[in-house]
Amino acid sequence: MQRDCEPTAQIFDIKRDCSEDGPGIRTTVFFKGCPLSCVWCQNPEGKERAVELSYTSRACHPLQCGAPCLVSCGENSIALSGAKIAINRDSCRVCNKCSEACPTAALELTGYSIGLEALLYRLLIDKPFYSSSGGGVTLSGGEVTQQMVFAHQLLKALKAEGVHTAIETSGFFNYSRFETLLMPWLDLIYFDLKLIDDAESRRYTGHSNQQVLDNFSTLVERSEVPVIPRVPLIPGITTSEKNLSGIAGFLADHGIDSATLLPYNPLWGDKADKLGIAVKYPRTTFMTPLEKRRCVTSFQTSHQIERGVSHAN
Ligand code: SF4
Ligand code: SF4
Repeated sequence: MQRDCEPTAQIFDIKRDCSEDGPGIRTTVFFKGCPLSCVWCQNPEGKERAVELSYTSRACHPLQCGAPCLVSCGENSIALSGAKIAINRDSCRVCNKCSEACPTAALELTGYSIGLEALLYRLLIDKPFYSSSGGGVTLSGGEVTQQMVFAHQLLKALKAEGVHTAIETSGFFNYSRFETLLMPWLDLIYFDLKLIDDAESRRYTGHSNQQVLDNFSTLVERSEVPVIPRVPLIPGITTSEKNLSGIAGFLADHGIDSATLLPYNPLWGDKADKLGIAVKYPRTTFMTPLEKRRCVTSFQTSHQIERGVSHAN
């Protein structure tokens, strides 16, 4: 049972048996809340810190079920709309009554609070697999540094259990808090570099990239924890020759000759629809193998970055 004073986090997923978020077999925890507003956000359920109401229209059949969700809502936030329903998210209090009434799970909550002890218990179930594979736990999001104090307590507890720890970050954090609260308990940092041009960063992520680049430089200079830069490949935005060669040059200036290029995942549009989030990036975008190859080549031939570029398929 969760004690009143126990620290809690808002998360939206715990994925076991992950192999892409660090070495060995890992469990990845996805925290809610992110200060950036990337137009291509591939984890839209990680944007808001609060729990959200998710609606899957293809699972919704009001004529068959009699629409119990309508009467369950004390806020009148649900109305019939043709053969489906419409949700007024401005008046919705995310009270969960409609999802409890829905027989098809068309309505569900995304995200939940979890206490430190409960989360630790779930993470440590797989400790034997971490130990035998060289794996561990990765904190991801959203942006986990938005819940810095909880992450500090979690990482410290994991280290006390001898578990390897990694973090995936957008780099948009307060450096001194990061250094004090997280760094001593981390074994590996995955650091996203999205856009090297400040105007483009403002346009596509909603923020200047200055803090991100400064944090990266300071980390590389001062941290003894390995930092692996990662570049998400977003067609038409981050994949330009200018951006990739600019990031490669920035890395070369820091004496770094390797990075991971993250492949574009087009499945995010469906997740955004379920949460009623307006899509600002063409949902039909996809990346051809040839385009991927061009990105890798652009990156490798820039500024003598000739090895260590990896890209998942
Ligand atoms: S959301 Fe659920 S309860 Fe409401 S009409 Fe659709 S299927 Fe029925
Ligand atoms: S979560 Fe609560 S307030 Fe929101 S639509 Fe459902 S019943 Fe209404």
